[in-house]
Amino acid sequence: MDESGFRLPPTNPDGGWARAHAPLLARPLDLTAAPPVVNRPISTVELHTHHLTSHPTGWAGESRAGLGLLLSGALGAADPDGVAIDDGPCPYCGVVHGCTAALANGGPTSPVYFASVRQGDRAVHALAETPVGLGLALAAGRDREALRAARKTARLAAAAGAVSRGPCGEPRTTGVARTVRYVDAPWQPGWVVSVVWQERDRDGS
Ligand SMILES: [Zn+2]
Repeated sequence: MDESGFRLPPTNPDGGWARAHAPLLARPLDLTAAPPVVNRPISTVELHTHHLTSHPTGWAGESRAGLGLLLSGALGAADPDGVAIDDGPCPYCGVVHGCTAALANGGPTSPVYFASVRQGDRAVHALAETPVGLGLALAAGRDREALRAARKTARLAAAAGAVSRGPCGEPRTTGVARTVRYVDAPWQPGWVVSVVWQERDRDGS
């Protein structure tokens, strides 16, 4: 996938633009605290970091449980088990993108889109009203070139998720403006987390 659909400023995205745009802050998610409140509609994107504290064999499940808690908060469901999550491959192209969650019984709120990435004991979750993707890359060094390469890897991965199902055939991104940003990931130097979201849903809502 190229980046023709990105709404990038004319300057080098890894140069002045990246420095001019502070990384987006992500709220820490704590499974032992009160369930998170996610106000709808989400204006741009809702980001959460998740420090996984279970045994390493349970990190994936703990990450998924955290995401479920966020989704139930966004959908007004008292129980994460009441949330139907569609995170499987796209029925049109087989790629995992445009993940959505909806109340099983057709609750009062509209479906919410989500994305999640995990590396070791850290996960990042994103929720949005439109297709959203997250990408994570580890910079091979601390120099500018290494950071530039990691940013590209991360934002391409993020962009792959921020595509609506259905209009995902070629050309994938025609007419869909998407915003590219990076997430503040202070826990591990060299980590680059990109978030990409569609500025509007496919029907223009
Ligand atoms: Zn697809």
